[in-house]
Amino acid sequence: MNKEKVVIIGSGPAGLTSAIYSARATLDPLVIVGNQLGGQISITAEVENYPGFPEPDLTGPDLVDRMYRQAERFGTRFEYDEVIEVDFNKGTPFYIKTHAKEFEAEAVIVTAGASPRRLGVPGEEDLIGRGVSFCATCDGFFFRGRDVAVVGGGDSALEESLFLTKFANKVRIIHRRDELRAGPTLERRARANEKIEFLWDTVVDEVVGQDMVTSVKTTNVKNGEKGELSTSGLFVYIGHFPNSKFLEDQLAMDEHGYVITDEKMRTSVEGVFAAGEIQDSYFRQIATSVGQGCAAAIQCEKWLSERE
Ligand code: NAP
Repeated sequence: MNKEKVVIIGSGPAGLTSAIYSARATLDPLVIVGNQLGGQISITAEVENYPGFPEPDLTGPDLVDRMYRQAERFGTRFEYDEVIEVDFNKGTPFYIKTHAKEFEAEAVIVTAGASPRRLGVPGEEDLIGRGVSFCATCDGFFFRGRDVAVVGGGDSALEESLFLTKFANKVRIIHRRDELRAGPTLERRARANEKIEFLWDTVVDEVVGQDMVTSVKTTNVKNGEKGELSTSGLFVYIGHFPNSKFLEDQLAMDEHGYVITDEKMRTSVEGVFAAGEIQDSYFRQIATSVGQGCAAAIQCEKWLSERE
């Protein structure tokens, strides 16, 4: 059993910020990275709204690298594995199991983030990596000169559609309503882009293709009209779900599986804190995750020092 003072579960902006603050507070934190260092920002093409970076060329991976190096500089250690089980019910020290190791931690900060939601229609699962994608940054390049479709009407759908216009011939945004959820700046940019077209009031019923996606079957929700849209790719941006399955019966959660925290990032278990998208389904910004990660680490340090 590996004994630790502070274990941070997850390595997105919340986790890396918790690591910077805990390491500077000499808590010698261990970050269990999860399946991707940096979490969702590692697959974000452009970051335009993170304060302190006015240049237009900041990418998600650049920002991850900066946060990672900053955490490492103060002595954070990184375990490249995933947490598969925890036992928080008996109180501190808390039990944490990864594929390879077992840990005991005096305090835990959970920053396991969220993952892209799927449509759940026939063909989607089978054609992932063969035209169906949840990451324009990763896969956009493969669609040079092709027509692609994007599902969703939020900021992510529009931002990634704009990114896809660098490669694709045509980007069709399929949205289930006739009004976007995305903010006005992105909407203006998308509407002004000649490569982008909108299919309003439309849902995808099926993704069609043998080896690769060839089309999607659709329904117009207003008039019931069925359609089939020829496309080489389908990028799905319809929101996220929290990566909290391993926390079931351990921490109080809301009906969607988001961990419940108070204003000090404390969970239902004393000594376990949570920050970022695992507990925030509302703001979901890098800046807010960073703030929550900072608050969780400060509170964690206070809790540990009060116990001593
Ligand atoms: P989101 O805001 O929740 O939008 C999800 C979109 O998918 C909505 O338009 C929704 O339609 C649609 N949708 C949901 N379920 C669907 C289904 N089963 N079938 C078809 N469509 C479905 O998610 P997001 O775009 O990922 O953004 C999440 C958060 O991150 C937001 O707070 C956003 O502001 C933030 N974000 C910000 C930026 C930025 O500031 N640059 C970039 C990316 C994300 P309805 O509109 O009808 O509900």
